[in-house]
Amino acid sequence: MSAQGERVEVAGVAVSTDHFIGGDRVASERRFDDISPVTGEKIAEVARAGEAEVDRAVRAAHDAFPEWAALGPEGRAEHLRRLADLIEEHNDRLAAVECMDMAMLLRSLRARVIRRGARNFRSYADLAVAYEERDWRSQGTWNRVQRMPAGPAAVITPWNAPFMLSTWKVAPALAAGCTVVLKPAEWSPLSASLLADLTVEAGFPPGVFNVIQGIGEEAGAALVAHPLLRRVSFTGSPETGRLIGQAAAKNLVPFTAEMGGKGPLLVFEDADLDAAVAQAANQYDDSGQVCLAGTRLLVQESIAAEFTERLHAAIDEHVLGDPREDETTISPLIHPDHLARVEGFVERAREAGDRIVRGGRRADAGELFYEPTLIEPRSNDSEVVQREVFGPVLTLQTFRDEAEAVELANSTEYGLSAIIYTGSMGRADRIGRAVRAGVVWVNTFLVRDLTAPFGGMGISGIGREGGDYALDFYSDLKSLQIREGSVS
Ligand code: NAD
Repeated sequence: MSAQGERVEVAGVAVSTDHFIGGDRVASERRFDDISPVTGEKIAEVARAGEAEVDRAVRAAHDAFPEWAALGPEGRAEHLRRLADLIEEHNDRLAAVECMDMAMLLRSLRARVIRRGARNFRSYADLAVAYEERDWRSQGTWNRVQRMPAGPAAVITPWNAPFMLSTWKVAPALAAGCTVVLKPAEWSPLSASLLADLTVEAGFPPGVFNVIQGIGEEAGAALVAHPLLRRVSFTGSPETGRLIGQAAAKNLVPFTAEMGGKGPLLVFEDADLDAAVAQAANQYDDSGQVCLAGTRLLVQESIAAEFTERLHAAIDEHVLGDPREDETTISPLIHPDHLARVEGFVERAREAGDRIVRGGRRADAGELFYEPTLIEPRSNDSEVVQREVFGPVLTLQTFRDEAEAVELANSTEYGLSAIIYTGSMGRADRIGRAVRAGVVWVNTFLVRDLTAPFGGMGISGIGREGGDYALDFYSDLKSLQIREGSVS
């Protein structure tokens, strides 16, 4: 154990590969390899937690909880704001490491994705401070709703956009007065370690924020089963979400989950076609490894031919390459196993008789690249329409009218996001209401007011994040009633 831990240099930044528990760097006997999808080379051997390290981390969070909870919203907000400032100060270092670790485009990481992490902390600092306990009189009593910090929380996150997605959960948990044990995904674990460093610099008390590195089935499973936790928050696939939900249910611990998506991108004949086409082609960004992506293109029949022709031209503009280069628009996939998974979907689609209109094979830009792929499915029941691929694979289908558009849009088990292109306010409202999705964008995409609810319907999510919804999740709401006139 040491204050610094085992460090490796990634993109010129010294990153600890150890856990962060109770303010200390803690090693494990076992380690796992972290391979950069950018270079294909091993960039770190990361500590691999077993039950003992997980137990130690949860106990550290448990021990730190009373003091952190007692600090109150203002005191905690000061820490969160300092952390937000530090994230901005270290923006380029965080972006460079995240790029090497998961191959997101460096320019997006620098310009917005890491900054969103800072925004997460700042927004939740503000929101927690602004909260006013509701009080009123009824039935001869004076009533008050109190928001009480819930206790130690487990946060489990996926490998895509790990810094942004982790901070999106860690920020409300800390702001609400919970202490946190974060387990990042094993394919992109490094930015969580940098976040731990920044909490030290920001003066967080030891044990308030902890990071456990490890494999999902080991460290993740041990974490969510821990009896001292009071909240479990998960982002990842529905398959893992079910397992984590079961573990949380066993301990009767409230659980929230943001899971996969299979969003429709609906284009109506009254839409701005240039904008709709550009947006459709953008769904290949980050090689389609985006839960919110509109991967099912649903286009009104009357404009389908023109839309498709223009879409091909827009896809031609994509540049597959090194995510550190400015001209690159499509980066490699995260891992050889994930590439094989994407490939499996397309091969099965081909065998089943779906029409591969373009792509459908590995790209020669490098080992982990897959060509932007467009598929016209033989039926809406095709696997590639019904299941999340999480790769650069879009399907293209047509609809006659609004009724059919909605029917197709709502035909999967998922319900995370939907994108609608139309020039009509009435239609935006009608279709916006009718589609089964937690987040609906009309003529835009990915714009987020952090006070709005965020989450999925169906197998895409349980509970809501964002704004007060997340602060309520990380709190125990208490009703206090005092008989009027009985106290002075
Ligand atoms: P995953 O479910 O395989 O893993 C997510 C996390 O869970 C990882 O940290 C992993 O180590 C951990 N884990 C795995 N098994 C576990 C177990 N048995 N117990 C406890 N933890 C366990 O998901 P992934 O492949 O990392 O991420 C891709 C998925 O995440 C996609 O489905 C994507 O749509 C989804 N996602 C959703 C959102 C959203 O906001 N809805 C955002 C990003 C990604």
